[in-house]
Amino acid sequence: MESRYSPADIEEKWQKDWAAQKLFETPTDRSKPKFYALSMFPYPSGNLHMGHVRVYTIVDVIARLKRMQGFRVLNPMGWDAFGLPAENAAIERNIHPAKWTYSNIAQMKVQLDALGISFDWNKEIATCSPNYYKWTQWMFLQFVSAGLAYQKEAIVNWDPIDQTVLANEQVDTEGRSWRSGAKVERKQLRQWFFKITDYAEQLLQDLDQLDGWPERVRTMQANWIGKSTGAQVTFKTEIGADLEVYTTRPDTLWGASFMVISPEHPLVEKLTKPEQSAAIKAYQEASASKSEIDRTAEGKEKTGVWTGSYATNPVNDLQIPIWIADYVMMDYGTGAIMAVPAHDQRDFEFAKKFGLEIKVVVQPIDQTLDGSTITKAFTDSGVMANSGPLDGITAGKGKDQSVDVAVQWLESQTKGKGTINYRLRDWLVSRQRYWGSPIPIIHCPDCGAVPVPDDQLPVELPEDVEFSGKGSPLAKLESWVNVPCPSCGTPAKRETDTMDTFMCSSWYFMRYPDAQNDKAAFDPSIANDWMQVDQYVGGIEHAILHLLYSRFFTKVVRDRGLLNCNEPFKRLLTQGMVQSKAYKNSKTGQYITPENISDITNPVDPETGDVLDVVYEKMSKSKYNGVAPSDVIDKYGADTARMFILFKAPPEKDLEWDDADVEGQFRFMNRIWRVVTESGVKANSTTIASGNFSKSEKDLRRSIHIAIKEITEDLTDDYQFNTAISELMKLNNALNDFTQKDSHVFAEGIQTLLRLLAPFAPHIADELWHSIGNSESVHTQTFPVLDSTALVVDEITIVIQILGKTRGSITVPSASTKDEIQALATASEVAQKYIAGKEVKKTIVVPGKLVNFVIV
Ligand SMILES: [Zn+2]
Repeated sequence: MESRYSPADIEEKWQKDWAAQKLFETPTDRSKPKFYALSMFPYPSGNLHMGHVRVYTIVDVIARLKRMQGFRVLNPMGWDAFGLPAENAAIERNIHPAKWTYSNIAQMKVQLDALGISFDWNKEIATCSPNYYKWTQWMFLQFVSAGLAYQKEAIVNWDPIDQTVLANEQVDTEGRSWRSGAKVERKQLRQWFFKITDYAEQLLQDLDQLDGWPERVRTMQANWIGKSTGAQVTFKTEIGADLEVYTTRPDTLWGASFMVISPEHPLVEKLTKPEQSAAIKAYQEASASKSEIDRTAEGKEKTGVWTGSYATNPVNDLQIPIWIADYVMMDYGTGAIMAVPAHDQRDFEFAKKFGLEIKVVVQPIDQTLDGSTITKAFTDSGVMANSGPLDGITAGKGKDQSVDVAVQWLESQTKGKGTINYRLRDWLVSRQRYWGSPIPIIHCPDCGAVPVPDDQLPVELPEDVEFSGKGSPLAKLESWVNVPCPSCGTPAKRETDTMDTFMCSSWYFMRYPDAQNDKAAFDPSIANDWMQVDQYVGGIEHAILHLLYSRFFTKVVRDRGLLNCNEPFKRLLTQGMVQSKAYKNSKTGQYITPENISDITNPVDPETGDVLDVVYEKMSKSKYNGVAPSDVIDKYGADTARMFILFKAPPEKDLEWDDADVEGQFRFMNRIWRVVTESGVKANSTTIASGNFSKSEKDLRRSIHIAIKEITEDLTDDYQFNTAISELMKLNNALNDFTQKDSHVFAEGIQTLLRLLAPFAPHIADELWHSIGNSESVHTQTFPVLDSTALVVDEITIVIQILGKTRGSITVPSASTKDEIQALATASEVAQKYIAGKEVKKTIVVPGKLVNFVIV
């Protein structure tokens, strides 16, 4: 036994030992209750960063704790391995994406193992492996059979540099590509979509089942689904065709003074009068090159062109002009809106700019507004006016209020009908990229889109392709593209789009329990045994799309009869960021590397001389504030790194890196080492001490069981690792201060400390556990259980005050009555020193706290 704590000597040894003993393999025996712990799987960039360390450590503590608490645990790990970076590496470095990806995976695996994470590597998956994407393709075809996949010509965000379609969230607020920085263009392409909108209501309703999720994530999901109620109303036009409008405020129809349709609306051409034709065409062309964000940004200058035509407002038969404007999107609602400028700020700005009528139909209680003089839209509550059957009714969405009444009136007049609308749109799953799962479809001139038969899956990615960086390499590979139709044999062409990588991550958690199955995506009895995931941990950046798509997949797979659960993730924890100190020149916006700063306590920019701001920001290379996990592990060991990360902040909060606090945790590991190695304890029994205890033994037992109680509570429901570690520190101090080293209670304390420590700092806990004479791993032990009799306090301390001033204290039996306490206090040496021979006017007894003597 080394007398000095040296993590380098013990950590690798135990990692090997655990692997050899297969300690973390997922049990197949179903007799114990199950616990499915899951961390969001990483993109294999090649290097583990501190954010990874945080999330995997959190999940590891939970997994280790649950094993010790008697659960059979599934704690798998895999790789979200398709995506653009691998393809860009192929283009830039002439290395095949597969080679690049697998070498990154190998590197990261070594780094993960060095952290002592208890993953079951038998469950490992990589989404880019044909063994996995075969089943992603099979899943795609499940959506096709269910009628939930379709092709549609759609306007997409087009990145002219990467030659690919971008999702809306891949376009920044300035309309630039998140990756290439190119100004995003609009382009029509035939794409594959999934009908997630068919599940909008379920996805919204079932958020109620997710009480183990952070409230803000549920709110974000609900907002993204964006359910609204309103009415569908038909406006007749002078060309005979109707314009359908959806509005959440059908009560304001009487205030509609013009209509706006999207520049892409199919009726634009017919509605355009010859004299307006040139202006309309020019406007359409200009808006085609703008991104959605460009077009719909709040506060942007309003633009638009009148078509020259009119529509009839169905509620009052007024003729109102029809305009086109780019803030109306074709794939949003019906692509046409009625404009009520008096009560909608965007419509108001538009009407002001183009001199259109503004008609007030909701009047505030205390004054009368005039449409020609108001300076902004009136959107507060009020009473309906100039609105025919609605006049005098309270404006709003409650029972018997204007919206309700308007819908009833429209329906009774057959001028419109009440409708529910969702902001959620169908999921565009096509990508024009190589490094993704090929969409298993063959386009036949006679049969149309034909699914690749199951027995021909997977459609493997061809390896002999060229990466030029322009367009999809798949589309250029004739030998791959040209195939006979599986249905009729006619020469046909493969679909050359690959799938959005969100497809791969929307079902991986169903695959893990049965990860090596080569006959099916999973055996339903195995998947049903493990699902739902009991605790999912990952970043808040996935609060919307990944979680929504995974929930959608789960419901569809359930409806295909493959899974029993409605929701994939029972509980969700979104961990905070890992931040560290960065030096920023606020004038130039540049970050300065600390190595170039001569006086770090008064940092100035070495080039400009400007005083630098010291800020805590998310670790990143570009801010020169990253801390490499391997540096910390090499210096202090993985246990210290884990303890720091867990202790520094509650898991959902941001964490500020601090070298001094890392050092502090290293010292704590050393204190534990010393207390245990100097304890002389050689007891290989884990039984609770019993018998007659001395007072100091009783005190120590109380400390031991308070630690068990507090730590167990900290790790139940919420995971408050930081306060749990504080309790470990207290227990270690109590053991350190205890002098009777041969006591059974002391032995109980040492063993309890190590078992409580095991989930947090697994290596040192196992080393010390063996050092006191145990032959089995501490990770196979049960987590300590509270003996509540140890918490009973025999004696309590009572403060003695004379005239309200504290003079000392006494101990009394905890069961003493008020009178007994007074008697003991009066007789005590402390009190007698002051009250002997004096007249005690009054004695105030506060049971459990103090006795105050009022003397003359
Ligand atoms: Zn055919």
